Amino acid sequence: MEITRTPAEMQETAGRLRRDGFRIGFVPTMGYLHEGHLSLVRASKERTDKTVASIFVNPAQFGPNEDLDRYPRDFERDLDMLASAKCNIVFAPTNDGMYPEGNRTFVEVTGLQDGLCGRTRPGHFRGVATVVTKLFNAVQPHVAFFGQKDAQQAAVIRRLVRDLLIPVDIVVCPIVRESDGLAMSSRNIYLSPSERAQAPVLNRSLLEARAMFDGGEKSAGALAHRIRDILATADLGSVEYIEIVDRDSLEPVTELARPALVALAVYFGKTRLIDNIVLGEKGK
Ligand code: AMP
Repeated sequence: MEITRTPAEMQETAGRLRRDGFRIGFVPTMGYLHEGHLSLVRASKERTDKTVASIFVNPAQFGPNEDLDRYPRDFERDLDMLASAKCNIVFAPTNDGMYPEGNRTFVEVTGLQDGLCGRTRPGHFRGVATVVTKLFNAVQPHVAFFGQKDAQQAAVIRRLVRDLLIPVDIVVCPIVRESDGLAMSSRNIYLSPSERAQAPVLNRSLLEARAMFDGGEKSAGALAHRIRDILATADLGSVEYIEIVDRDSLEPVTELARPALVALAVYFGKTRLIDNIVLGEKGK
């Protein structure tokens, strides 16, 4: 497995791979890897010839009072995991490499960046859209893989590549969960044992919403109400939002006529957990 540290070196490698006719798959991450990340690496390996994973904790997507400084990091462990998954190249740039002195250019996906998580994390999706654009320019992938875990991020990136005519196919992979249903996240290690024990309530509430929807309930208000009741059974949790929105536009819906994203953000102590489910998708 090759480790690449600078955007210039990465571009050179990508150019060589492209000239040699390889299709490049790309998995952007912030490290502290888990099975969710590795599922993206495996998806990339199935569909492309060479897989590049990036490890970069992007300062631009953290707010001033967020967890940038304490975000978990373990580069050696990440490298071991990527090597076991047979990732071909790791791109691990520095902050200066990604944001050269005097950087003044940012990317915004207006509208899509403002609701859901964007409401309490202003600037977050601007940071995400900017870094993903830069990473795409460094890695020059044919296909990039993202997790449905971050559903709003996936919608923002789909729109970004469409609007800016970026020639990268976007594949969104299913959420990987712990055996008790908690969506895997690098931030789960922040949870205390009692918070960890209650955290699967997010998934439970979403599964109940799915059962109601499958039983014929199409009112977003009724589904959200039931979700709120279930989340209230976890006394350590504090709901930031429960929203039911159009899967693509992220506009709120009142009746679930088209595929809808049911998205949650819940605090356990200082740890903010997100989860979601899509209802009304064909074949589900
Ligand atoms: P992060 O390192 O948190 O920025 O995540 C990197 C990529 O992994 C993003 O596309 C996430 O959506 C994806 N990801 C994170 N957790 C999961 C999960 N539990 N299942 C599937 N994908 C995930």
